[in-house]
Amino acid sequence: HEGATVCALVGQGISHSLTPPMHEREAAAHGLHHSYLVLDVPPADAPTFDLGAVLDRAQAIGMRGLNVTHPFKQRVLDLLDELSPGAERLGAVNTVVFDDGRRIGHNTDWSGFARNFDLGFGDESPDPVSRSAVVQLGAGGAGAAVAYAMLTRGVGRFHIVDADPVRARALAESLRPLFVDTTVTAGGVDDADTLIARADGLVHATPIGMAAHPGMAVSAGTLRADLWVAEVVYRPVVTELIANARSVGARTLTGDGMAVHQAVDALHLFHGIEPDAARMTRHIRDL
Ligand code: NAD
Repeated sequence: HEGATVCALVGQGISHSLTPPMHEREAAAHGLHHSYLVLDVPPADAPTFDLGAVLDRAQAIGMRGLNVTHPFKQRVLDLLDELSPGAERLGAVNTVVFDDGRRIGHNTDWSGFARNFDLGFGDESPDPVSRSAVVQLGAGGAGAAVAYAMLTRGVGRFHIVDADPVRARALAESLRPLFVDTTVTAGGVDDADTLIARADGLVHATPIGMAAHPGMAVSAGTLRADLWVAEVVYRPVVTELIANARSVGARTLTGDGMAVHQAVDALHLFHGIEPDAARMTRHIRDL
């Protein structure tokens, strides 16, 4: 098709990703013929998967760009010509744009979370939340992007909790030099309840609450009306954490907002369009 563009998502366990239909429908609403493919790499093949060959081929056939997800967000760094400042500071890329023979890496996970936060809880919301003390649960791939995003929004004390405390501490150490005005600490789950009791907000970035991992990563007793909760899990949109937080009267931000805004930012980078986030939110809720 004349004017058709092709992009793809490359990662593991992504055959049911909602990103392709979100991209294709929103691009169509802008009059673009945008095909968005999925390259789901079997877990056994991931360690030896030749990501460089995929980038070469994608570029050679004129693809506009790629989204890259677990387990390739770090591995792709060495295959790029240039990084956006956020991707460079975070050390992770989820969007590669082919631009005149050059490969430019961006990270719309952090920018998508940050934009959603600004609109719902931050400086673009009618009533911005306090950020004197924030606790984040989860220091994995999503956790790293979300923690970076939170710190760009000005947090006084930021504590990272992970079931694997070594992982939590490594993330804290990587963020500390970038955000010298924030006290960044980290640890395991044991003292999480005590720290949450003193916090203004809770950011949840573990897989707990997904259909495959039901439940909550915090005890229900830690939730209270004056503790805001930002969720990263978006399938289901109303996780057990979100439902429990709402039931005690807490302000909540659901994970679909991050999913939508990472796609908004990627579509903007691929095509220069201004996607309609509200329309994409309605769409993702239908999927
Ligand atoms: P990951 O496996 O890289 O990291 C998860 C981390 O959570 C691990 O470090 C693990 O030790 C920790 N953890 C697990 N259970 C815990 C518990 N009970 N208490 C404390 N820590 C615990 O996974 P990820 O890629 O970071 O994804 C996490 C979640 O974020 C997934 O549900 C994913 O679907 C979601 N996600 C959402 C978006 C979005 O756009 N909304 C984007 C990316 C990921």
